[in-house]
Order: sequence, then C-alpha cells, then structure tokens
Amino acid sequence: MCLFVETHYSNCKHTCFELYLFCRETLRQLNRINDPEQRRDYALPFDPNCPTCQPYTISMKPTTLRPDTNCQSVILESNIVHQMMDMVESCPGCNTKAL
Ligand SMILES: [Zn+2]
Ligand SMILES: [Zn+2]
Repeated sequence: MCLFVETHYSNCKHTCFELYLFCRETLRQLNRINDPEQRRDYALPFDPNCPTCQPYTISMKPTTLRPDTNCQSVILESNIVHQMMDMVESCPGCNTKAL
C-alpha cells in the first residue's frame, strides 16, 4: 500500500496528492521501466493495478447520532498520512498553465 500526502490549494481550490511512501508493487513497476524488453513489449506508463496505490479514504456516517459528532463522517481507513493547506501558491497543474 502506498502512502500519500494531500495538499489543498486555497488559491485555485484544487487538491493534489504527493507520494509519501511507495510500496513494493510500485517499485516492481518502476524496475520494469529500466528493463528494455519490458519497455519494448508494454506501453508506458505501467499500471501497478493496485487500488491501494491510489489515494483513497473509506468513511462512513456514524449510526448513532450524538450532538458532539456533528453528523460528520468517520474515516475508517485511509492511505493519506498527512493533510496540508497551501494558502499562497496555486497547485502545480495551475502553475504550469500560467507559464
Ligand atoms: Zn502501492
Ligand atoms: Zn490548481
């Protein structure tokens, strides 16, 4: 399972994910890129074909409503280890468009 860092850009309201830690499956895919035979026989990019290699969050609404929970959904599982807020910059995608 890969781990990700999530950044919210308040300037352009986009959310970007950055790879924080990659797993063995992704490493295996990266090694294929260094193999001329694999490169010849398969198109790039190689797909790790592993759902946990994408940023994901599984959440649910609490079944018992308590006033202090404020109806917020509870995160059961996620591979996003850190969330950040960028108040100054636009996301990398918007930055390249502006150039
Ligand atoms: Zn992975
Ligand atoms: Zn953006």
